[in-house]
Amino acid sequence: MRVGDVEELVRDWKTSNDSRFRLLQFVAVNGFVCGDSVPYRAAYSKKGRIFRKINVCANMIESHEDMKEVLLHELVHVNDDVRWSCDFNNSDELACTEIRAANFAECSQLTDLEARKICVQNVSEASVAPHQIRNVQRMMSKCFSEDTSNWTFTRDQL
Ligand SMILES: [Zn+2]
Repeated sequence: MRVGDVEELVRDWKTSNDSRFRLLQFVAVNGFVCGDSVPYRAAYSKKGRIFRKINVCANMIESHEDMKEVLLHELVHVNDDVRWSCDFNNSDELACTEIRAANFAECSQLTDLEARKICVQNVSEASVAPHQIRNVQRMMSKCFSEDTSNWTFTRDQL
């Protein structure tokens, strides 16, 4: 698969079995039983340029829909990694990809724009360490997209 295909496949994740299948060929998904102290339900990590994996706390997933949403959130991070080389160690870029993941996954069903913004802010803030919360607030205007069908984002927008 070409890296350029990722954006389109992630966009179609919710509606296309073929997109889901092709993405799961691109990213390894591992399930784990996580302890109560683990502060997330899933996490994306990579080694080098080509080994990408999503670790899922399987015991924290409650339904098929829940699993699709959790994987979509992580796939937005995969997309941002391969499409604009998001640096997850940079607080602003981490905040940006969390905003995008919340917007396109957990909060995407909210049609009211203000309600969606509040959802995105809350989910993003919960996804970063406490000292990074102000970065989420600062990056909202740059990284939140009103149009959830428009995935395009470039490093120039940071
Ligand atoms: Zn995330």
